[in-house]
Amino acid sequence: MPSSSLPVELVSFDNTYARCLDGFYVSCSPDPATKPALLRWNYSLAEELGLDVRAIEPSRLAAIFSGTELPLGAQPLAQAYAGHQFGGFNPQLGDGRALLLGEVIDRNGRRRDIAFKGSGPTSFSRGGDGKAAVGPVLREFLIGEAMHALGIPTTRALAAVATGERVRRERSLPGAVLTRVAASHIRVGTFQFFAARGDDEKVRKLADYVIERHEPQLLGRSDRYLALLRAVVERQADLLAQWMLVGFIHGVMNTDNMAVSGETIDYGPCAFMEAYSPATVFSSIDVHGRYAYGRQPQIAGWNLTRLAETFLPLIDAESTDRAVAEATAVLEEYPRLYEAAWLSRVRTKLGLATPHADDAALAKDWLTLLDRNEVDFTLAWRRLAGTVAGDSQPLEQLFKSSPDLTPWLERLRRRIEQEGRPIADAATSMRRVNPVYIPRNHLVEVALAAASDDGDLAPFDGLLDAVKQPYDERPGLEHFAAPAAASYTACYKTYCGT
Ligand code: AMP
Ligand code: MG
Repeated sequence: MPSSSLPVELVSFDNTYARCLDGFYVSCSPDPATKPALLRWNYSLAEELGLDVRAIEPSRLAAIFSGTELPLGAQPLAQAYAGHQFGGFNPQLGDGRALLLGEVIDRNGRRRDIAFKGSGPTSFSRGGDGKAAVGPVLREFLIGEAMHALGIPTTRALAAVATGERVRRERSLPGAVLTRVAASHIRVGTFQFFAARGDDEKVRKLADYVIERHEPQLLGRSDRYLALLRAVVERQADLLAQWMLVGFIHGVMNTDNMAVSGETIDYGPCAFMEAYSPATVFSSIDVHGRYAYGRQPQIAGWNLTRLAETFLPLIDAESTDRAVAEATAVLEEYPRLYEAAWLSRVRTKLGLATPHADDAALAKDWLTLLDRNEVDFTLAWRRLAGTVAGDSQPLEQLFKSSPDLTPWLERLRRRIEQEGRPIADAATSMRRVNPVYIPRNHLVEVALAAASDDGDLAPFDGLLDAVKQPYDERPGLEHFAAPAAASYTACYKTYCGT
């Protein structure tokens, strides 16, 4: 903190995690940055949080959001958590390069965490420098904003600040700190940390805290822990359906990267699928395809089972058998909940307003067509709107050759007509849910390389602008809608960037 000035009162912090959950974290200060400079600031999110930054110089904002100067009321802490990483259990992970600053109540009355990523080592960083590089920080900023604009629950970036320091990865890279805003940072792995130590009381305390924070309607119910499990299962089922329907591949769905709030969290080696193929994997470390696009719903179910295991003593303290039976009954609902969420959302993508028994088959046959013809997932959905409105040529161009496409399109048209709605209405509603702009992998890489290597944020800004209004086709932005060459995508790899 500059000695001449008092701490800035940015916002009124109300830090329940620090106050109520002693023993769940370690207090820790961020490293000051040598030469903090604001890379990007999220004005609309700041507004939503009620942050008053008008009177604050950009240089001071950079000092605050690099961890160099703490705002009044912040109580930085590193949260403890464990996690299954690629199926293997690690009993101690924790925030090794992140710090929770505190919580604020936003303008909509929702409690939000404000946290740093890349602000230096903590007592949980066993190895690693606790830092982050400009590229991965901007990737998280960009993908989080894209997901938010697509209507998908996600943590979001408030700020990206360059530290002026170099971080050592495979090569030396410019460092940065991300400020992340989340409904909370409680993960499946947070429960696992205490369950693995046999500390049932802490598991209970955490579950009570989560109920109060995320599911207050369950307070006082005798079956509240089972109901909490069900609520988390429901949120994840819907989240996964949303990921699948935009072609999002998280890349590292470890249990420490799954938030109980139902928000998408931890954008590392994530990517968007181009040509539809359930086996798509981009992450360099996912050698066996555990987290392939098509396996994500199933993996979420696996992670939820790990969560349920930690809940057993809370569900029934007397009888493990009874607890297992009750938890199993909830977990068994997950595939059905996922299918229901997926079907209801896929219907809107198909321009349908009412359910019909054949809809799942109609949707699945469409995906089979995309798979067989290696068609770009995003463009195919988008052009389907034009097709139902009468112009099928742009869609047909995406198909290598498809004798089955025409009869399938006929089926869809008949189905839409059955609803008695004007076809133009269906096309309009399809354009509202089928994005034209997603963060295309090749464009993300160009934007991050320009920012990291040359300090040029123009490509990043252009792409961010496109993906922030994903449904509005705008002249001049055609290249943001175009897939990469298939040869590029075939070799594309993403990295953790840690
Ligand atoms: P992630 O791959 O970001 O989900 O992180 C997995 C675990 O590794 C977490 O406990 C992180 O805090 C830790 N970690 C990741 N990167 C670093 C780093 N650069 N320094 C210290 N710990 C890290
Ligand atoms: Mg993580």
